[in-house]
Amino acid sequence: MTIHQLPDTLVNQIAAGEVVERPASVVKELVENALDAGARRIDIDLEEGGVRLIRVRDDGGGIAASDLPLAIARHATSKIASLDDLESVATLGFRGEALPSIASVSRFSLASRRDDDGHGAVLPVEGGRIGTLAPKPHPQGTTVEVRDLFYNVPARRKFLRAERTELGHIEEWLRSLALARPEVELRVTHNGKPSRRYRALGVLGGDAATDSPERLLETLGGEFARNALRVEHAAAGLRLHGWIARPAYNRASADQQYLYVNGRSVRDRSIAHAVKQAYADVLFHGRQPAYVLFLELDPRGVDVNVHPAKHEVRFRESRLVHDFVHRTLHAALAGTRAGITGDASG
Ligand code: ADP
Ligand code: MG
Repeated sequence: MTIHQLPDTLVNQIAAGEVVERPASVVKELVENALDAGARRIDIDLEEGGVRLIRVRDDGGGIAASDLPLAIARHATSKIASLDDLESVATLGFRGEALPSIASVSRFSLASRRDDDGHGAVLPVEGGRIGTLAPKPHPQGTTVEVRDLFYNVPARRKFLRAERTELGHIEEWLRSLALARPEVELRVTHNGKPSRRYRALGVLGGDAATDSPERLLETLGGEFARNALRVEHAAAGLRLHGWIARPAYNRASADQQYLYVNGRSVRDRSIAHAVKQAYADVLFHGRQPAYVLFLELDPRGVDVNVHPAKHEVRFRESRLVHDFVHRTLHAALAGTRAGITGDASG
């Protein structure tokens, strides 16, 4: 066997295996790019659960026509430039992998215009083969179109589920986003019909909006909202805020457990354990608590570059974070603990 360098398209398709699992992962990457570009309104058009079409349009800063080829080049990003940037990264993206990966497994196009440019431009890519950059009228912002996901990767296409299921994954991810970014307007259509809309909730970026009872009601329903306890605590450079449900409102599965670290939706075993412990003596065995919790800390205290899809993070002081979350929630639940006999019906 001789050793040879793999062609770019194949390298991107291999990376796509990690970043792009299903239509919901494409929506996640595209919407995160829109948020990183400062979008206030994001329109998402879907067909056939996103398999036939995913189109994400934003009103963010846009991309210069001459930069469009770079945006779809591997390891090209505007978000970090050094290891120091990586260690304190505040944007959702930074790996420069999403667009080239997605473009290598779909019929893709990227159209954009910056505020100060006369007109926009579009760059089509088909299965990783880059087409011709052409001028195209476009409002300020960016539109990414992804058609026929995995059309050239039959092994992957085989794993896609029914339209309803794929749409469900997309909607679940958008729900978690709507909780974290209530200041952004999100509109979704599916097969040409409006399917979801989250209005922008007034406050600009502030916590009053993040912890808005209105958004909690919209996303997770009246039962949770009526049973929600507000959490707000800061100590030792850590801050935890959001909502936890009184023990009387509990779930058979972990389907209403939303955790964000510096605004990024993540799964974390250690924090999940800390929450579980805090509820240990107020919940029946086997029942799951419901919560929407935002943990904020110095970005240097947390490594977000653990997984290509960034579902997980690693804390520098994991024990400290665990105990902080546990103590905060234990205290927040103290009132319900006093009334435990009255609450024990759930
Ligand atoms: P990353 O987000 O990790 O930087 P991507 O492959 O997702 O990598 O995007 C590459 C680059 O393209 C980004 O760094 C950004 O400069 C630009 N870009 C992508 N999407 C948008 C968008 N919606 N608006 C503005 N710029 C964008
Ligand atoms: Mg990105």
